[in-house]
Amino acid sequence: MRSFLVAAVLAVAGSGSFAIAPDISPRPEARIPGLVEVSVEARVSNVAFERWISEFRRRAVAQGIRPQVFDQAFQSVRYDTDVIQRDRNQAEFTKQIWEYLESAVSDTRVKNGKAALRDHKRTLAAIEARYGVEAEVVVAIWGLESAYGSFRGNTPIISALATLAFDGRRGRFFEEQLIAALRIVQSGDVRPDRMTGSWAGAMGHTQFIPTSYLAYAQDFDGDGRRDIWSDDPTDALASTAAYLARFGWTKGQPWGIEVRLPRGFDYSQSGERIKKSVGEWMAAGVRDAAGNRIPEHGRASILLPAGAQGAAFMIFDNFHVIERYNTADAYVIGVGHLSDRIGGGRPIQANWPVDDRALRFSEKQEMQRRLTGAGFDTQGVDGIIGPNTIQAIRRFQRSVGMIPDGYASYEILRRLR
Ligand code: CA
Repeated sequence: MRSFLVAAVLAVAGSGSFAIAPDISPRPEARIPGLVEVSVEARVSNVAFERWISEFRRRAVAQGIRPQVFDQAFQSVRYDTDVIQRDRNQAEFTKQIWEYLESAVSDTRVKNGKAALRDHKRTLAAIEARYGVEAEVVVAIWGLESAYGSFRGNTPIISALATLAFDGRRGRFFEEQLIAALRIVQSGDVRPDRMTGSWAGAMGHTQFIPTSYLAYAQDFDGDGRRDIWSDDPTDALASTAAYLARFGWTKGQPWGIEVRLPRGFDYSQSGERIKKSVGEWMAAGVRDAAGNRIPEHGRASILLPAGAQGAAFMIFDNFHVIERYNTADAYVIGVGHLSDRIGGGRPIQANWPVDDRALRFSEKQEMQRRLTGAGFDTQGVDGIIGPNTIQAIRRFQRSVGMIPDGYASYEILRRLR
């Protein structure tokens, strides 16, 4: 749903750990010492902010926003220092996938998901029939995005986006979102004062940013408005299903299946880049977590989100459809596994390498520097564990006799030091 970063979970593909934006971070935010400076900054900014609004008004009108719509929407807009603080405080906070799943697929969230599935049974069945997306999957996204509507965010969206667009860091992106938000107001779908959401502009039960809303939001209850903000989640849930359908959801195909890999499995075959039929994987000895054969569901990859020591999943095209919501492997597995559990499925069977600690951003950079220095070129030092770094890790692992799973563990860094 989000193009980047505005998501609660930030992708660092293949690393097994990922950053979480501070709005759901458990870190205490002690800000008292900075309070005076902040208010000075806010006063200074307000003058420039007002000037920016009048310039932006011209750009918005040039893009088709009616002046009276703009003025009404901006009536109570203010520079939101809290939004800026949250944006600036996105210092990386990393969790390992098992820590994330503990909260993403907690017993409470599973229980509440089952209740949500029951409470909205008829609506969800109608949505499933229209868009071809299973009710459990829609409910799982709802569960992760807003705890089934409990945390939809109460930040005024126009103020938040105006602040972020003015601030300039990723200003173009946020100005585009702000224009989209004004189009939503202009369409009459929602009054600007009811348009609330997260500090970064994600709105409603399933946290659509304005451009996604414009492209995919649905009026499923037929009252003439695409209302993702109201207590009634009908439109929001239909919008989510429409979004997944648009990106190619295949009904009846699992997102993924936990699998058991045979002794002697060729770990160079793991990773999203290698796809084979279920039959080919089974010929290589892959079975489901209970040791049974796996039905044919299309081409699949073997994903090891915590390396060879953790759970293994056979993932299908639907995995990549959920990625359109949020690209972090952990998020996709969270949605997928939560949907399985809501549908009565079993917990993940494998153990996780729980003694493994997540690498900090600086340590990922250090790992890349050291790998490259040792002759395993990572094609750059950006702190993001992408395909080139995974490849370099595999080569390093082979050179020292480790299992070449490409997993960026602390152990690799320790050995490189
Ligand atoms: Ca509606």
